[in-house]
Amino acid sequence: MKITRVATAVVEANFDWTIIRVETDNGMVGWGEAFFAPGLTSTLRELGEFIRGRDPRDIEPIRRDMAQAASAAGAGGQVHHAITGIEAALWDILGQHLKAPLWQVWGGKFRDHVAIYCDCHGGDALESLDSLLQPRELEWDKSRSQWNAQPGTATRDVLAEYTAEAYVKKALQQVEKGFTFLKFDLDIPNPYSLDRYHRRLSVAEVPYLAQLMVDVRHAIGTEVELAVDCHWKFSPDSSIQLARALEPAQLAWLEDPVPPYNLDALKYVRDHSPVPILSGENLYGSHEFRSLFERQAVAIVAPDFQKVGGLAEGRSICHLADQYFLPVAPHNIASPIGTMASVHIAASIPNFLALEWHSSDVPFWSDMIHDGDLIHQGLIAVPSRPGLGVTPNEHTMRLYAKPGEPFFE
Ligand SMILES: [Mg+2]
Repeated sequence: MKITRVATAVVEANFDWTIIRVETDNGMVGWGEAFFAPGLTSTLRELGEFIRGRDPRDIEPIRRDMAQAASAAGAGGQVHHAITGIEAALWDILGQHLKAPLWQVWGGKFRDHVAIYCDCHGGDALESLDSLLQPRELEWDKSRSQWNAQPGTATRDVLAEYTAEAYVKKALQQVEKGFTFLKFDLDIPNPYSLDRYHRRLSVAEVPYLAQLMVDVRHAIGTEVELAVDCHWKFSPDSSIQLARALEPAQLAWLEDPVPPYNLDALKYVRDHSPVPILSGENLYGSHEFRSLFERQAVAIVAPDFQKVGGLAEGRSICHLADQYFLPVAPHNIASPIGTMASVHIAASIPNFLALEWHSSDVPFWSDMIHDGDLIHQGLIAVPSRPGLGVTPNEHTMRLYAKPGEPFFE
């Protein structure tokens, strides 16, 4: 069996979803997804040429050869994203070839259903962002995108979307849909923020932000898990003040309070925080996660399986986390294709906690596959079909394809 072609398409959703299709000389097709990055399509094209003619079942040698070539060429993060998406498609091919779902190829499953946590963002604030995280105007979401395109002229009351009332309403809506695990953003516009650059929370801001979560906790009770994301915005001391104020909200975690590139600063926060600290979505490869674990800088780890370097690398990271007795709550902003790859990992590792779902406001998320709605009562059933176990819907992908990008050409 030989790889004959690696083709890509980019779908404009809340983020760019880069879908990878690997074809073989015996007519097999494998699907993968890569985390967005500027220039990702051209990187995928070059890597596709690099591996053409190889046996797609040689997954680990192919991955290492791609990674070694990229490293020698001084390539950065987007190459890891590209390698990850291609590697995932090779696993899909191997699973189909062996007539076994990926979790079975990897040694069996610990669970039949994977818990999904619903990212509720903040207020009504979901935006569609391009590969440099800039808001963009899209046909499928005109109301928001008009605001995004002309922030100076909007009449929308942004602060009103970040009140306790708005957060409680959003939480109860998702609980009504069956979710038992929610996450909200806390790096949000509020009446007391001082400056977006110096990272210090004002004396009025700390209790204001904490009260949002205390109110949500009162509304949802203690049978629903609750977490918050800070997107690397705060100083270590402000993070600790916020964590202490948040203690009554009984949070599952406080995510990325400080920037990700100083593990000692993160460790300092963790040592002084009554709330468990989660991080990991910015890291690549087992070696970067090893540093995180060795420093004991997190209580829960969040690798992104569309960027870490491959699904096998993702599983290695989870096993390494297990040596430190750490639960894994994978970061996930993917379409159903990448999400299902993460579901197979989640099923096949002991220390899985919950998988993110970031697309509650994307109207065509479920239409990206022919398999119907994946999420029921806050769970995804672990598939029994060979390989990835979903059938991508190219018609939907074409409807929302990013202009200027190839469409599986
Ligand atoms: Mg996050």
